[in-house]
Amino acid sequence: MAYATIHKQPQDWRVSPNLGAGPDARAGFTWDVARSWLDGLPDGGLNIAHEAVDRHAAGPLADHVAIRWLGKGGEREDLTYADLRRRTNRFARVLEGLGLRRGEVVFALAGRVPDLYVAALGTVKAGCVFCPLFSAFGPEPVRQRLAIGEGRVLLTTRTAYARKVAALRPSLPHLEHVLLIDVGPDDATPEGTVSLAALMASASDEYTIAPTDPETPALLHFTSGTTGTPKGAVHVHDAVVMHHATGRFALDLHPDDVFWCTADPGWVTGTSYGIITPLTHGVTSIVDEADFDAERWYRILRDEHVTVWYTAPTAVRRLMRLGDELAREVDLSALRFVASVGEPLNPEAVIWGVTALGLPIHDNWWQTETGGIMIANTIAADIKPGSMGRPLPGVEAAVVRRGPQGVPRDRPVELVTQPGAEGELVLRPGWPSMFRGYLHDDERYRRCFVDGWYLTGDLATQDADGFFWFLGRADDVIKSSGHLIGPFEVESALLEHPAVAEAGVIGKPDPLAGEIVKAFVVLARGFTPDATLERELIGFGRSRLGAAVAPRELTFVEDLPHTRSGKIMRRLLRSMAKGEEVTQDTSTLENPAILDQLKQGI
Ligand code: ATP
Ligand code: MG
Repeated sequence: MAYATIHKQPQDWRVSPNLGAGPDARAGFTWDVARSWLDGLPDGGLNIAHEAVDRHAAGPLADHVAIRWLGKGGEREDLTYADLRRRTNRFARVLEGLGLRRGEVVFALAGRVPDLYVAALGTVKAGCVFCPLFSAFGPEPVRQRLAIGEGRVLLTTRTAYARKVAALRPSLPHLEHVLLIDVGPDDATPEGTVSLAALMASASDEYTIAPTDPETPALLHFTSGTTGTPKGAVHVHDAVVMHHATGRFALDLHPDDVFWCTADPGWVTGTSYGIITPLTHGVTSIVDEADFDAERWYRILRDEHVTVWYTAPTAVRRLMRLGDELAREVDLSALRFVASVGEPLNPEAVIWGVTALGLPIHDNWWQTETGGIMIANTIAADIKPGSMGRPLPGVEAAVVRRGPQGVPRDRPVELVTQPGAEGELVLRPGWPSMFRGYLHDDERYRRCFVDGWYLTGDLATQDADGFFWFLGRADDVIKSSGHLIGPFEVESALLEHPAVAEAGVIGKPDPLAGEIVKAFVVLARGFTPDATLERELIGFGRSRLGAAVAPRELTFVEDLPHTRSGKIMRRLLRSMAKGEEVTQDTSTLENPAILDQLKQGI
């Protein structure tokens, strides 16, 4: 079913959009213009923390709330820009006191607590590199990443240290300092650790930011591990130019906004948009320590008067599963813009936003490697539900032809110009937040670039109006009887059936067709998995997609394997469908017990 375009009208927005809909809105934009929106360091150079914190702390925003922290148990803490300046200064001093040199890596393994945010910004102030780890990682993923990143400092909690790190210490020769955030300044600490509070108490809150420049490394981010072993992407201070510009264009941030990015800083979205972007705009950023909980989330949106909300399709689908009533009962009148990233946003979900939240959800696309939003549905532009939108100002995206081995390397790339034709999504390098390398893997980095383009590994089409449509990751695409089928298209079609809460679609090897389309389906509440429903869903798929694209096989499951950042791990479904033992990297798998459940169900 094709969804009607959502036409935007000026009465749809309450403030004048930063990016208008007409072609003039983009005229004259260059990255140098975007640089001019920032201050730069007083002695030249560029530092993320100066743009995010110090420049506001020195001006009229000093007493404005920068971070409003909501604790799991109902606690709250407001940090103004001036508070944040002092605390990040102290943290930078602490690192200095520990003898950390520029470029050395500071890791954090902690939940969303104020010290995590202070450490991130304090680390980049000191010219060191910050690497956040997702707090629910087990010992092995933590060890792997600490080892690859040669982390010298780790900020964590007493429990996480005891459970996940203490026993591994001998295998982590680079790790010299473990700072515990949840022990008082005078408390005894386990051997090999110190109290962060004690160090902070004796550090000065005056600090002159290290002389970093746009190319100084600032952040290390591991990818989500959806398609394989996570890769460490290195980002530099210049990324802040992109963070700020996309906050303006894609998220439409205005000075009075209350912004909530629900992503954890363990993933690039939670750092780029959960820490840096809102602060560079001087707005109030909500940080919620707790995990997803529909009622709590609606309450936060209402009580904190969130105006701009950036979330993920997996969360939207969970809210959808609970029905519209819950959303409609809540006063969401402050909310004026909603965006989502991380996975394709099913057209159903865009429309659900309109009916349940009163606003469409704006999908946007980017990756750990791009460091910031590249393609987006923006506030003033019409939305074609199911499309990722159009490239932001300064971003050049295209679709190029692939061969059986991907994009050929021995000749110039061939742009796909016919609207709707499939190929790999590529970007013209030169945007400020592009990753500058995969840690210890130069060869892999080099292979990402062909003939002046960055290859994203995602397949897409572009329509005649310039909108990009996601087909799937190159690794996930199904090749069945000569057709190239994107799992997203099939999953979205199944999702239109009221019984389907979530679907994961893969290619299962088949001697005749090469692969057949197989769907794993999680049912909505109140539906029973039986042969009748299976037949009905297969028939439904055929009527929507045609026999060549619709699933030939369908299995009901209680849940799908997701990464901790909420993405469906189709590679695990593929192994299961082949009857293989899973030997791949599962360090980012959210619910490892799912593998046993799936084995039994298949
Ligand atoms: P890995 O590279 O380790 O397999 P990953 O690619 O999932 O993990 P991320 O960098 O967190 O790690 O995710 C970026 C990817 O997420 C994109 O390349 C794309 O496949 C998918 N993605 C992000 N946003 C969207 C979107 N709006 N629509 C469709 N897919 C999206
Ligand atoms: Mg990737």
